[in-house]
Amino acid sequence: MPAEQREFKAELKQLLHLITHSLYSDREIFLRELISNASDAVNKIKFDSLQNEAALEDNKDWKIKITPDAAAKTLTISDNGVGMTREQVVELLGTVAKSGTKAFLDAVKAKNDPTAAPGLIGQFGVGFYSAFMVADKVTVLTRTGGQPGGVRWESDGQGTFTVEDADKPARGTDVTLHLKADAEEFLDPYRLRALVKKFSDFIEHPVAMDQETEADGTKTVTEEVLNNRKAIWLRQPREVTPDEYAEFYKTVSHDAEPPLKTLHFTVEGGNEFRALLFVPAKKPFSFDWDEPKAGLRLYVQRVLIMDRCEELLPVYLRFVKGVVDAADLPLNVSREILQQTRQLDNIRKNVVRNVLDGLAGVKNTQPEKYADFFRGLGPVLKEGMTRDFENREKVADLCLFESANTDAGKTTTLAEYVGKIPADQPAIYYLTGDAVGQLRNSPYLEAFRAKGYDVLLCTDPVDEFALPGLREYKGKPLQAADRAEAKPNTGDVPDDVKANYAGLLGAIQHLLPEVGDVRLTTRLTTTPAVLVADVGAMSAHMERLMRRWGEDASGPKRILELNPNSDAVKAVKAVFAANPADPRVELYAKLLYDQAVIAEGSRVSDPAGFARRLSDLIAAAAPTG
Ligand code: ADP
Repeated sequence: MPAEQREFKAELKQLLHLITHSLYSDREIFLRELISNASDAVNKIKFDSLQNEAALEDNKDWKIKITPDAAAKTLTISDNGVGMTREQVVELLGTVAKSGTKAFLDAVKAKNDPTAAPGLIGQFGVGFYSAFMVADKVTVLTRTGGQPGGVRWESDGQGTFTVEDADKPARGTDVTLHLKADAEEFLDPYRLRALVKKFSDFIEHPVAMDQETEADGTKTVTEEVLNNRKAIWLRQPREVTPDEYAEFYKTVSHDAEPPLKTLHFTVEGGNEFRALLFVPAKKPFSFDWDEPKAGLRLYVQRVLIMDRCEELLPVYLRFVKGVVDAADLPLNVSREILQQTRQLDNIRKNVVRNVLDGLAGVKNTQPEKYADFFRGLGPVLKEGMTRDFENREKVADLCLFESANTDAGKTTTLAEYVGKIPADQPAIYYLTGDAVGQLRNSPYLEAFRAKGYDVLLCTDPVDEFALPGLREYKGKPLQAADRAEAKPNTGDVPDDVKANYAGLLGAIQHLLPEVGDVRLTTRLTTTPAVLVADVGAMSAHMERLMRRWGEDASGPKRILELNPNSDAVKAVKAVFAANPADPRVELYAKLLYDQAVIAEGSRVSDPAGFARRLSDLIAAAAPTG
């Protein structure tokens, strides 16, 4: 096939522009990214060769080699991994629109700091391009197993790349960086040795460099292995330094910050396995762009079987990163077999328990750090209340809530809430909405406050599902405070009052077809009217969320509840009693309804009509005569 010149995908051009036109202080991470790609490539051929031995070409002395060439000012990272075909090179290194590319650009933009790019680049699966932080030209020479020839890819990172047929004797990939004038430090063997130690010490394949020594006038070249290679998760926790954990965490998570919690444990017995897991300190920058999928790296006796084994971790713990190394699974285990095997279930159960217990430990011993974690990732963790029936109370114990009784910005837990619950309080109450500040002033809290009952104030969309999913906690049911069934022990409206209001309520129902029913209530102390969701119906907040998500939210109508002790409601009744046909009855009914709509956090459907009614009311206050 002839040589051809191709354009990078549009977003990649932007990414390359950003990379080639900025100066970075920690650009050294390019080496970690390229060694990590090389190591992945070796793992891939190892795994593929279980099915297709011919692809091995008997070349299985696994190695990643680093070759600085001081004269040519190049640095080459070679591997005898899986290699790439011509089509793959074109796709993988230039034309495939990776979702990560755009997300990376957005993230750099959001940080408003181009120097943040090196910390982010690995997170979005665009690590290869970090080469252009130190090189003004990159050449990739590659060949896959069982196919003659090879391909050369070359680019200066300025918008185009070339591909042509080439001759590469050994299977694998050589990535050659033509170093920028200011990046010649990466030719220095000392510097390279230190970087490999720092970033890639635990890479399971040897990372080697040739060393030249001269004795008695003869030069000898020896190959020096730069990394320790001992799989960090197989070492005893007391032998691993915090720095080693931190570096390993970076390679599995691409998170620039140290983790909140490191969990390194062994489970013995029937399903022996070792695990090294990390919980991030904060929601990683790429989290919302990533597919909402969980997974851990699965090894069987140090052989990487799968990069992301979803069976090992439930989705609500998808922020957990790390490695599981199982002793008893067959090495050639396939995805189908994995799905069937009970061993994975057992490993997952163990992993979940360790993570939840680990989080509980952090919550109890480092509450501030935990609060930071929970602010970003709490909404994800909360999914466990609906999705993990067995552990839902454990997950509930990890949740932090603001409540009517907490100071702004402070939180409480369900255990603390239940610990302080008054003897006659029948349920745990919560109120959902967009902002805690709004919820604090909500009329729905009036009766609860009067009774000394606390109410959890919930603003994560997931709360609408998670809290009903939990159903009860320590024997107390959970109830939304804006629902008809939540009655904070305030008694019934006396029968004589009910009889007095019957006519007015009927008239209002007639005037307001948008409500399902009009009733008197004891849930209010000062506010004249609220809307509540009927038993089994959707809450107002849920309706708003559904609309935001573009869903049909036309559920059952809400119930208008009126407070017979409020002066406003009393006044409407007096006007109605004097003359049921008085046009002010309609004016007031509509105003009470609109007020209730605003108080529940929704929008009035006819703002102009609302404004007009309000001005009519003011106009009517002018002294007559
Ligand atoms: P990521 O590695 O996160 O997918 P990169 O931009 O670093 O993203 O690499 C893009 C793709 O190019 C890789 O997924 C891999 O398929 C291929 N690739 C990169 N380096 C190598 C290599 N040394 N050997 C084989 N394939 C490679």
